[in-house]
Amino acid sequence: MDSLTYVQNTFRDYYANNFSLQSALQMIEKREFGFASFDGWMLRHRSFKTKNELTMFLQDFAPHDAYFSCAYYEEPEAEMERKGWLGADLVFDIDADHIPTQCSKIHDEWTCGNCAFSGKGITPEKCPKCGNERFDTRTWPCEVCLDSAKTETVKLLDFLMRDFGFSDKEIRVFFSGHRGYHIHVENEAARSLNSMARKEIVDYVTGLGLDITYFGLSDRKILQGPSTKDQGWRGRIARSAYDFVRNANEDDYKNAGLQTNVELLIRNKKALLKSLDGVGTWSTVKGVAFGTWKRLVEHSIGSISAKVDTAVTTDVHRLIRLADTLHGKTGLKKVEFALSAVSTFDPFKSAIAFKAGTAKVIVSDAPKFRLDNEIFGPYKCKKIELPTAAALLLVCKGRAKVVE
Ligand SMILES: [Zn+2]
Ligand SMILES: [Zn+2]
Repeated sequence: MDSLTYVQNTFRDYYANNFSLQSALQMIEKREFGFASFDGWMLRHRSFKTKNELTMFLQDFAPHDAYFSCAYYEEPEAEMERKGWLGADLVFDIDADHIPTQCSKIHDEWTCGNCAFSGKGITPEKCPKCGNERFDTRTWPCEVCLDSAKTETVKLLDFLMRDFGFSDKEIRVFFSGHRGYHIHVENEAARSLNSMARKEIVDYVTGLGLDITYFGLSDRKILQGPSTKDQGWRGRIARSAYDFVRNANEDDYKNAGLQTNVELLIRNKKALLKSLDGVGTWSTVKGVAFGTWKRLVEHSIGSISAKVDTAVTTDVHRLIRLADTLHGKTGLKKVEFALSAVSTFDPFKSAIAFKAGTAKVIVSDAPKFRLDNEIFGPYKCKKIELPTAAALLLVCKGRAKVVE
């Protein structure tokens, strides 16, 4: 059996025997659905009246990937211009593809689709050699990367609840089934926002275009910076800078781009903390000039902004992976989890769709990984019999072939 047939049969088995739509689908009849088949074509502009109807379709079709629109339409089955857009959930995608982690240089590779120039780590926007924008990528759903995606998710949730005032009942969080998290806001006011308005929200949570002088400089003699008690970005910056100054050692300062003043900053730690915590009068710390405060603020913005994918949030017609369905790149499920469970949620346990069976594979190469409590690999040119979930993950990621 070839590997694609193996994946297709396994997916078919899941949809026929283990599948149910656990996650809620608001106004299902107003959504557009799309499905990628195993033959490589895409079925779009479908709609379903009920969850039951959708479930039956999925049981029968067993897609490679299943999607639904963040948008609500009068006529979801009509062509794009005639659908009658009624609004869209506010959706955020946080993906390890956009987060620079140390390990991405080990397990991620990209190759230019034009000139075949290749590199390790995060895929660049343009090929550094020929400027082409298409790449073949080889990534891995790594535990460390997913942890950092979760950290970004926690930061985003704090922005959404504290600064935008969305309630925990309006916000839903999902593991994407691959390398990240999806955050959906289902709120009536947010629903009607156009693409530009959504871009403003992205700019806010990513801290794009923050003017440092607005946060710090009143005149050249008295520098009035933000205080930890301030609202919004001002308070966030001050609190982050406060934590940084309180804990930073020499190396942390150097890594933050403050190498020239390290000694002075460490010596004045108490005064700095007092400045950040109090009314925010920066100029009282002797020897620490505006440039240093500016760098400290910039470093804080970098560490507290949430790294979300702009294109996903600003696209008001976007198709998003449907929860409880399988991700074609991993064989893992997209799963929803409670907001209160963010810190304890384990994607490599909750997203496993197959608990029984094994498959014999030849693994070309794969890093060490964990599924539930079992550790696998690393593998290099190895023939091995693995539990279905592990074999499927390797085959879907193009790291293994099925034997026989
Ligand atoms: Zn190139
Ligand atoms: Zn990683």
